[in-house]
Order: sequence, then structure tokens, then C-alpha cells
Amino acid sequence: MSLQQTLAVVLQVMDHGDADKIVTCYSENLGKLSGIAKGAKRSKKRFVNKLEPFSLLDLSYEESRTSSLMRIDQAELVSAFPTLRSNYHRYTAATLLCEQMLQWTREHDADPDLFALLRWALTNLEQGQPAFATVILFEIRMLDLLGYKPDLSGCLRCGHLTPAQRPYHFSTSRSGLICKACNRETEHGQVPVSLETARLLHAAQHMAGNKLDRLHFSPDAVRESLTLLRRYDHHLLQREINSWPHFLASLPLAG
Ligand SMILES: [Zn+2]
Repeated sequence: MSLQQTLAVVLQVMDHGDADKIVTCYSENLGKLSGIAKGAKRSKKRFVNKLEPFSLLDLSYEESRTSSLMRIDQAELVSAFPTLRSNYHRYTAATLLCEQMLQWTREHDADPDLFALLRWALTNLEQGQPAFATVILFEIRMLDLLGYKPDLSGCLRCGHLTPAQRPYHFSTSRSGLICKACNRETEHGQVPVSLETARLLHAAQHMAGNKLDRLHFSPDAVRESLTLLRRYDHHLLQREINSWPHFLASLPLAG
């Protein structure tokens, strides 16, 4: 089999025996992929400091005839994102992004837009953009790309999104907003959401990617958005993403 190349972000690395490492990445050309890097624990030249979570690599790999694991031949470091390893808050944010990619994506199911979104979010965090806003924007766009875009345009029943219809709730099971007048049932899985937050998240769904940084999230909007997204994640995956509590606990008030 011939050697192939792709850009890839390292999501997870595990030791394998005395000498090898098993690396799981999200790649531009193949989606999620797992590969074995033979001799990675010994080879100073080919892999040193490259096979680390968050690193953006130019991978050379070969498919195996006998296993779903690729054979990783070489890795060139495109970006190490060093700040993500030295700042705890940014580290927990990047860890959350990587766990999301591990949970939500499948092997051999490429989505170049999702790869670009992950690269954008890691670059944002590395450059010191607010971590909470980056995570919110990543999550809302990721749900769209995966086909789970929540409907934040107005109440699911009456269509309104106005101050008169407050308070609004987000229904995780119906993937959208319910206004006060239409909310006659006591339904499990409702998350309170203000008009400000609903409008911000709705704007984030439709804004061009290069303009997302213009959205400003107040501390209240941050708290509400993160609560909503975490609960929606949990409902869709039917399990908790382990990194959510670590990220939320690391959240500094200012950023
Ligand atoms: Zn309504």
C-alpha cells in the first residue's frame, strides 16, 4: 500500500508496549483515524514532541491490510499550540474540544469543514481569544455540521421571539425554544434561556466563520450558553462528556 498524507489534529495518544504509540487524530482527508507509530517512544528524530494532544501535524501514513489501524510513518509538526499546554484554562478548553471530536465523529468519515472548525478553535485559544466564547462558537457550529442544529429562530410552536413571550426555555428533546405562553407542559430537559442568549447563539449559527469573533458574550450569556450546550450534548449522546466539568470549574471570571 502506498504512503499517503493528510493534515491532522492529535486527539489522544496511548502507549502501546515498550516502543510504540497509538495515536487517534481528526484528519482533513479521512476524518477520525487511529494509527500506530512504531518506535515512537524511542525515535528521537521522527516523532519527538509531535505526537501530543492538540498538535497539528502533516501525517504520512499507510493503510494496513490486516488491521483498521494505520501505520504512521512520519509526522511533521505544523503547529504545537504551546500555550494550550501552559495555561490550565485553555488546556481544559482544548481538552473539551478534543473529547467532543472523539465522541461525535467516526473513522473514515471526512468532513473538511469540521476539521477547519477544530483548527480555527485551537488557533483562537492559542492566540488568547476568550476561551468560553471559543468553546460556545465551536459547539454551536459543530452541532450544525453534524446535523443536530438546534432551532433558535423563535418558539417552536408560535414562532415568536419577543420580550412579551418571556421567559423562554430550550427543550433538549425538541431541539428548540419554547415561549412562556406555549409552555404548558412540565417537560423534563428544559433549560432556561434569555432572549439575549438565544439571539447570540442564533447569530453564531448564521455568521460567516471569519466574523464569529465579533460576537460578544456577557457573563450571563456565557453561563446560559454553556449550560444549554452541555445539557443538549448530554441528551444527544446519552452520556456526559468528562471534560465539561473540568472546563467549567477552570473558568476565570474575566476570560
Ligand atoms: Zn410560543
